[in-house]
Amino acid sequence: MKSWLFAHQQLLSQQFNNATLPHAILISGVAGSGKLELAQWLVKLLTCKQPVQSVENKVVSRRGCGNCKSCLLLKSNTYPDHLNLVAEKHSLGVDEIRHANSFLQKTAYLGQFKTVLIEHAQTMTQAAMNALLKTLEEPSDNSVIILLTNDIEMLLPTIISRCRVLNIRPAVGEALVSQLKEQGIQRQTLNVGPRFLNNEAFVNLTQLPELTNEAINEAFQAFKDCYINYLCYQQGESQLLQYLLNNEHALRWLEQITVSLLRQHFLGSNDNEHKQTLNTQLLNNLYKVIINACKVIKSYTQANKQFVCEQLIMSMSDVVEQNQIEVNGYLSV
Ligand SMILES: [Zn+2]
Repeated sequence: MKSWLFAHQQLLSQQFNNATLPHAILISGVAGSGKLELAQWLVKLLTCKQPVQSVENKVVSRRGCGNCKSCLLLKSNTYPDHLNLVAEKHSLGVDEIRHANSFLQKTAYLGQFKTVLIEHAQTMTQAAMNALLKTLEEPSDNSVIILLTNDIEMLLPTIISRCRVLNIRPAVGEALVSQLKEQGIQRQTLNVGPRFLNNEAFVNLTQLPELTNEAINEAFQAFKDCYINYLCYQQGESQLLQYLLNNEHALRWLEQITVSLLRQHFLGSNDNEHKQTLNTQLLNNLYKVIINACKVIKSYTQANKQFVCEQLIMSMSDVVEQNQIEVNGYLSV
């Protein structure tokens, strides 16, 4: 468990012991902050027949035993008193929420609690949020709804006000670096990327998923290579589009890498061979079109992602092509 989750874990343990756990808990925090980890720990605790006491970093809390029948059923995703709701096709609809509502109204089969976990709660449609509101207003006995979000502003204020909100604030800067080292993330992993951790005491929290997950970090590196290659040689346009469509992080990476390249320019630390091609004007123009696409996707829940991404690639190609003409004095095709 990440060290910044301990305090929440301890508080929830106490509430569990005193039978004062809230009916609805909203866990809010950036991607990679450990929302799901905390939620899963709580679901396990509420499921288990004989929870055990555990001590981690001198923090006493309770957790599921992992061995009883209920724990084993939960592990195999067949525990009848827990429901996991995950958005499909970028949004969570009213039918899924209604299903959760009727699930909560039935008495528990095996356990003491009925639990529903809603990941990416910000993707609920307006109708879904309204349907959930009814359940939050009249919670059934021994039911616990856990909502996770990385964008709390997308939720109806009436939903937020009916939940106990837990704000996850991860460690920053050097505290984060030492935490990740303790967790055994390889130094090599920490050193790669756009000057992530080795030179800067400040760590941007938007990079947490890359820092806390090695597979995501590898995907990030591959994406970065693809993007740089595209900028310098105008190759791999369709590959870039595929990344944007299929990887939930890619749009954020695009913005992040562009900003990072710009920063290197301003700090005068861009000593790579493409210095002339990757100039400030190019990067600024790219940044504008990328930010614009991000805005469109964020402001309309029903935005057609494919369409927006295709438009983005076209705008980027125009910018890159124009830059080639200016740098080389001719169109290099
Ligand atoms: Zn158990």
